[in-house]
Amino acid sequence: MADAVDAEDRSTARRVVTEEQYQAAVREAGAILSRAGAFAGEEPLADAVTAVLAAVGLLVPPPEPELDTCTAQFPDERGDWWQCLEDPGHEPAEGHDAGDWSWSDDSPEAVPARA
Ligand SMILES: [Zn+2]
Repeated sequence: MADAVDAEDRSTARRVVTEEQYQAAVREAGAILSRAGAFAGEEPLADAVTAVLAAVGLLVPPPEPELDTCTAQFPDERGDWWQCLEDPGHEPAEGHDAGDWSWSDDSPEAVPARA
């Protein structure tokens, strides 16, 4: 079994696939699972595609952020995106915090808050 991409190696950002590439991956995986009678729903499918892409060092596009908190986003090693829970417009130099994760805008894969 091939080793997963080293989650500690964050010196370079993983490539974010385009929305079109992500949707194509979801479509293909969904079709295969449906033919096999193993389709378990949209959410497990999206989770599986996210995990498969993350295993080869790719990220799914960040979701549209909620606007009731800071819009900064950050992907964990599994490729799941987290959004900052601080107030909108907080000082970015203080860093961003999503409970389980905290990060700065300097992190290679961080998406800064929208202006
Ligand atoms: Zn923030």
